[in-house]
Amino acid sequence: EIGASGIGKSFGRFTALKDITLTIGRGEFLTLLGPSGSGKTTFLMVLSGFEPASAGRLTLNGRDITETPPEARGFGMVFQGYALFPHLTVEENIAFPLKVQGRSAKDIAARVKEMVEMVGLGGHGHKKPASLSGGQQQRVALARALAYAPPVLLLDEPFSALDKNLRGQMQEEMRRIHQDTGTTFVFVTHDQEEALALSSRIAIFERGQLQQIAPPREIYERPANRFVAEFLGDIN
Ligand code: ATP
Repeated sequence: EIGASGIGKSFGRFTALKDITLTIGRGEFLTLLGPSGSGKTTFLMVLSGFEPASAGRLTLNGRDITETPPEARGFGMVFQGYALFPHLTVEENIAFPLKVQGRSAKDIAARVKEMVEMVGLGGHGHKKPASLSGGQQQRVALARALAYAPPVLLLDEPFSALDKNLRGQMQEEMRRIHQDTGTTFVFVTHDQEEALALSSRIAIFERGQLQQIAPPREIYERPANRFVAEFLGDIN
C-alpha cells in the first residue's frame, strides 16, 4: 500500500502539486487523468523518487519512503525519457534488471524470450533501440519493467506511440498481467476509454489538485464537482 499525505511540489514559484492526499491499495490499478499540465506526470515522478516532494510524506506499507532514493523503492517504471540502454540489444535491455536481481542465466533467457513475444517484438530481440520505431521502443521499455515483476509499476502514457490496434492488444495484456500478478499499477493516460477499461479507481487532477478519486463508474455517475463533470463531458 502506498500512502501520499499532503504532497506538494513547486518548481521555483510555480506550484505543480498542491496537498495531494491519497492511498493506493495493494493490487490496485489507479489511473491519473486530467488536462495537460495538471500535474499527473509530476505526481508520478514524486512517487518514483526522481523528483523530491516539496511538502508532505510518502509511505510504502506503512514505512516512510519520502527520502528513499528511486532505486531503493523497488518500483518498476515506464516513463517517456526513462531511456533504454542504447548500447544494449532489446534482449539485453530486458535482461538487465533480471541480472541485477541475480537470476540464473537460464531463467533470464526464458523470461526474456517470453517478454519479447508478449510485447510482439519476436524477431527484434537482437536489435539496438535506435533501429526500432518509437512504438517498438515503448514496448521494450514495458517488457523490461514487467519482466522482473516489481510489486508496483508506474507508467506514464506507455501506449502513446502505438497505433490503435496494438494499443488495444497492449491494454488486454496489461489487464491480464494485472489480474495474474496482483501488481499495483499507477498509470497516466490521456485516453478516457483506456482509463475506464483498465482502472479500479481513477484520480482526476486539475491544476495540481486532486479533484476526485473513485472507481470509474462512480466518477461518471457522481462527479464530485463541476470541473470533473465538464472534463469527462468534454472528452465524451
Ligand atoms: P501532460 O498531460 O501534458 O503530460 P501533466 O498533467 O502530466 O501534463 P505535468 O507534466 O505534471 O503535467 O506538469 C505540471 C506542471 O508543472 C506544468 O505546468 C509543467 O510546465 C510544470 N513542470 C513540470 N516539470 C517541471 C520542471 N522540471 N520545471 C518547471 N516546471 C515544470
